[in-house]
Amino acid sequence: MQVYSGMDVITNKVPEAERHGVEHLLMGFKSPGEQYVVGQWVQDALKAIDETHKRNEIPIVVGGTSYWIQHLMFPNRLAVDKDSSPMPAGRTPMSQELADIVAALPLHLLALFNCLPLHPPSAATDPDAAFNLHTLLSMLDLPVANRWHWRDTRKVLRSLGVIKETGKRASEIIMDQTNDLASSKPRFIEFEFTWLLSEIRALRQIATAASREESSSDSAGVKTDYTLGIYQSIGYKEFHDYLTASEPSEKGFDAAVEHMKVSTRQYAKRQVGWIRNKLLPAVNTANAEEAVTPTYLLDATALDSWDKNVRGLGVQLTEDFLAKREMADPLSLSESARKMMLIDSKAVDPASVLNARQKRICHVCTLHIDRPFMVEEGREWEAHRNTRVHRKLAAKGQQSEHGEVHQQRKTKRDEASTRN
Ligand SMILES: [Zn+2]
Repeated sequence: MQVYSGMDVITNKVPEAERHGVEHLLMGFKSPGEQYVVGQWVQDALKAIDETHKRNEIPIVVGGTSYWIQHLMFPNRLAVDKDSSPMPAGRTPMSQELADIVAALPLHLLALFNCLPLHPPSAATDPDAAFNLHTLLSMLDLPVANRWHWRDTRKVLRSLGVIKETGKRASEIIMDQTNDLASSKPRFIEFEFTWLLSEIRALRQIATAASREESSSDSAGVKTDYTLGIYQSIGYKEFHDYLTASEPSEKGFDAAVEHMKVSTRQYAKRQVGWIRNKLLPAVNTANAEEAVTPTYLLDATALDSWDKNVRGLGVQLTEDFLAKREMADPLSLSESARKMMLIDSKAVDPASVLNARQKRICHVCTLHIDRPFMVEEGREWEAHRNTRVHRKLAAKGQQSEHGEVHQQRKTKRDEASTRN
């Protein structure tokens, strides 16, 4: 958000006076309503980095959205994401293989694919539409369809959307990405990655500034599109109700502040999730080949120890890195570092990504073939098999099929006692 001009406080731009003469690039150079996406930023950032290197200086990339930084560090790794580079104007053509499968779809599913609903249908009120979508996805991309319950129409529709937008199945994209992850190298030979774990500070102060900034920019009565440009930033849309109320109240202000705190926490959670699930695995994979990317987490939650734990440590690590000295063990820095940075390495294995959360149909509990009862493999499935409902239906099924339920149960019990 700092690429946009204005809104200096809510986007938390470093004030001129605190920059100490250090040049800040790509800041405040876009007008607030303009769209600026990660692909463009990577191009602009690479140019700035290149120019800095030519002056024999070391660039420090500061941010922000770790997703953007990952794109900068690792080329071509993240093929599809809605925040990614803009989709080509025309849709990407499908492979012949996929096009043939689409052409051979039953007519009603072909019509559905050609005209996907804009919004996911509700499985509760429109189960036929929901199940049709899932059937369509099963025919086009079975491994992914197996991961979503047919009732989860949002995910099903998104996976179908991916096929239409990219001409590829989501499962193919996952394979491509993880293969890239295994083969391609970071764009830079040496970099140090530092991550600040910090708590949300001075919300009320930011909130006040947000309301001031909005009231000055919104005064023309122009309707603001909160999905575009800087208007997406936290602290802006949350104040809309308060500022457009005929009589702004203290209560409305408090509600806006509360709303903003929630958004900020959600944002922080998404960022941490991205770092742990995407960025650190990518960095670890790169390091497994050649240890060049020390990655550190600095715990900035306690402000009173900022000088020691954040600034002091940060400066020390950077000096060690630049002087090519032995670097500290990233997990040794703090308790938070140990907790947050120990990650599961299986996240980068495509098979484990695709095989995670597979659903299976419980034929016992499925009463209608178009409304299959689906349960997640593993623990959920085991738990389901022991539910009263399932056991009752299973017993009933055996009775109606064989009329020998008593006999069968007895046999099962005998088997069990033999095993024991
Ligand atoms: Zn069941």
